[in-house]
Amino acid sequence: MITLTCHGAAKEVTGSRHLLEINGKRLLLDCGMHQGGDLTKRLRRDALPFKARDIDAVVLSHAHLDHSGALPRLLRRGYRGVIYCTGATLNLLAVLLKDACNLYLKDLERDNRVRQRRGQKVQKPVYDMEDVLAVLEACHVVPYGVPKEILPGVIVTLLDAGHILGAAMVHLQLDDGGPKGPLRLLFSGDLGNSDSPLMRDPAPVPEVDWVMMESTYGDRNHRSYPDTLNELEGVLEAARGGVVLVPAFAVGRTQEVLFQLGCFYHQGKLEGWHVVLDSPMAIEVTQIYDQWLELMDKEDLNRLTEQGSATLEAFLPCLHLTQNTDDSIALNRVNQGLIIIAGSGMCNGGRMVHHLKHRVWHDKTHIMFTGFQARGTVGRQLVEGEPRIKLFGQTFAVRAQIHTLGGFSAHADQRQLLAWLAAIPGHPKVLLVHGEEEAQRVLWEAIEASSGHSVAIPGVGETITLRD
Ligand SMILES: [Zn+2]
Repeated sequence: MITLTCHGAAKEVTGSRHLLEINGKRLLLDCGMHQGGDLTKRLRRDALPFKARDIDAVVLSHAHLDHSGALPRLLRRGYRGVIYCTGATLNLLAVLLKDACNLYLKDLERDNRVRQRRGQKVQKPVYDMEDVLAVLEACHVVPYGVPKEILPGVIVTLLDAGHILGAAMVHLQLDDGGPKGPLRLLFSGDLGNSDSPLMRDPAPVPEVDWVMMESTYGDRNHRSYPDTLNELEGVLEAARGGVVLVPAFAVGRTQEVLFQLGCFYHQGKLEGWHVVLDSPMAIEVTQIYDQWLELMDKEDLNRLTEQGSATLEAFLPCLHLTQNTDDSIALNRVNQGLIIIAGSGMCNGGRMVHHLKHRVWHDKTHIMFTGFQARGTVGRQLVEGEPRIKLFGQTFAVRAQIHTLGGFSAHADQRQLLAWLAAIPGHPKVLLVHGEEEAQRVLWEAIEASSGHSVAIPGVGETITLRD
């Protein structure tokens, strides 16, 4: 018997964790964190719904925290097996897990000070940096396209998902000794947007019996990439004589924006502009991208080599990296010709909040959003046109001009999801995961109408029998 239980990213987009059971062994696909809301409270409540010691192996699709963030807790609770992932994922994981751990410990310290003042007991961390280091030591690198037997009867092949650097689809050949031969399952992880720059398109998928696929944008299509580039040019035109703030996510989006600005530079469209990457984490991640340029889209890579650039940084000669807070503060004295890329992507933390404090009340400031803004964030308030926002407990009038660019998404849209599924031979059965209910319902209908695959949407904790 082969079963699959979805312990997260079931009718929701975070906390990706799927437990596969075969031949008395347990294989965990991803071990992600639930995101949104107060970090310390969330981590305390977010117990792992299985015994860590009972897991025999882990395969990680990619480094994003909603797929990897609970790994340190898995090790803290006694997991002693291997974590299989690509080399680029391991590099990114080191940066992301350490950063998340530092943020968590800082938040916990602040909460504990409040508790002490109230005479309450302080809380111990649910994990710390030692657990993060244990995760990194447990990782075993599997390159794309190389089959690897990770448990008796379980062969894993990681295929490029085209989402962020190192992201993989997980192809599993599961041999339960039955007369029908091995069962073949493909877990999509997060699928990339094939129109966006830098990442390659998702690799072709061989014939399989089951597909477990993400459905984040199951109900909509992105604006086309050429349209997005026109918009970007339009923003730079409108912002001449002023400053552009780009709230950016450190992994993926930042590197895509840098690459695109590099293309503009070489087309002579960036004259008079300086670009500043003002985020220590994004700088570190960009350096990791530079180490793995061989994994990038060939055509985009050619654009770099044509200009004699060996790195993304070199491709954009007007790029400056801020090394410390003083450099960041010094930017306040410049009032034109600056494009400042800083985190966080939703303006709820990081250096972007300081830049907003300094510039949001100026009409020569342009703020350019490149990604989804969740409810409750400052980014969402700006996108929705609030006339005033609160930063550091003070009210600021919004005079800056707000722009939203739609085409930089790192996820496949509905059209791309349908085309990806239709290209898989063998007419597999489909399980939809990693999507909100409405997006999943719409995608289900679209799949049934276009290709007639049988579709199911597992709920949290629901076990699906893949083979009796
Ligand atoms: Zn992702």
